[in-house]
Amino acid sequence: MGMPVRITLYAPDRAAADAAADAAFKRIKELNAILSDYEPDSELSLLSKTSGGGETVPLSPDLWTVLSRAQELSRRSDGAFDVTVGPAVWLWRKARVVRKLPDPAALAEAMKAVGWRKIVLDPQKRAAKLLVPNMRLDLGAIAKGYAADEALAALRRRGVTRALVAAGGDMALGDPPPGKPGWRIAVASLEMAEDDVCGHAWRPQPQGANAQDPPHFIIASRCSLATSGDLFQHVEIDGKRYSHIVDPRTGIGLTDHSLVVVIARDGIAADGLATTVSVLGPRAGLKLIEATAGAEAFVARKLSDKTEWFESKGFRRFREKASSLP
Ligand code: ADP
Ligand code: MG
Repeated sequence: MGMPVRITLYAPDRAAADAAADAAFKRIKELNAILSDYEPDSELSLLSKTSGGGETVPLSPDLWTVLSRAQELSRRSDGAFDVTVGPAVWLWRKARVVRKLPDPAALAEAMKAVGWRKIVLDPQKRAAKLLVPNMRLDLGAIAKGYAADEALAALRRRGVTRALVAAGGDMALGDPPPGKPGWRIAVASLEMAEDDVCGHAWRPQPQGANAQDPPHFIIASRCSLATSGDLFQHVEIDGKRYSHIVDPRTGIGLTDHSLVVVIARDGIAADGLATTVSVLGPRAGLKLIEATAGAEAFVARKLSDKTEWFESKGFRRFREKASSLP
């Protein structure tokens, strides 16, 4: 899935910590072999190769879980979230390398294989049929959240419950560190330089914030958290910035400048919703969040040189309170 994973955990001793961490990393490797669209032999890539052939392919429990949840999110977001967006994403990945917009004819051709209704799931057989040729499923917006959750579950099976698994901006949070109300997570700011993000040198902003300001730290546990936005990956062509998140309805990389943080009951929901809210924008996006049990979100958006902040009703309880500042 192309990302570093960091695990923080509390265990009675070094041996227990190592054994648990090994089991968690093993689980992530296993999932990579199933869910990656980079690996030509992953279960996902093999499924994509059957597209247009009329075959109904039985899926492993992991691929079934991720794909059926992805389809549910596509339905709920009216196609703003769409794992069939792969052929368009692929052209934008190339555009990033050569710094040239995708050829419109090539993009139009790619879009023929995009559309969530082109995946037909059979819940009885736990199988999938891909209706048109040249489809390329891409779970990049949802698999990391699932992998983080599954790694946390692997730790739990080894008796480690106080842990945090971070797959880039996608985090699975277990029980809090000893004596703490929760895990303290720094929120990136829209203005943050790219170097800072890549080096993970999160820069805390001045303290003394009030409720209207963007949150600097989130305190949370026993949930999942995801961050999405053009801050992390984008390409600038002719002075315009295009995100690695593509609007599946147009095939064009998002040009909105935004940062989305979603807290949800599990990683599939957090990761998937963060990408979806990026596509939908703050208003429609937060409506979807409010309609999702256990989900809260914060959105920062920059329009020309003005930054606006939005958050769902219950997000406030995850903000670090002044009284819990160090
Ligand atoms: P990140 O990978 O930086 O954590 P996301 O979770 O938002 O960010 O996932 C972005 C990835 O998801 C893209 O690199 C691409 O592979 C895929 N993708 C892009 N646009 C969409 C979309 N509209 N719906 C589903 N997946 C998408
Ligand atoms: Mg995502």
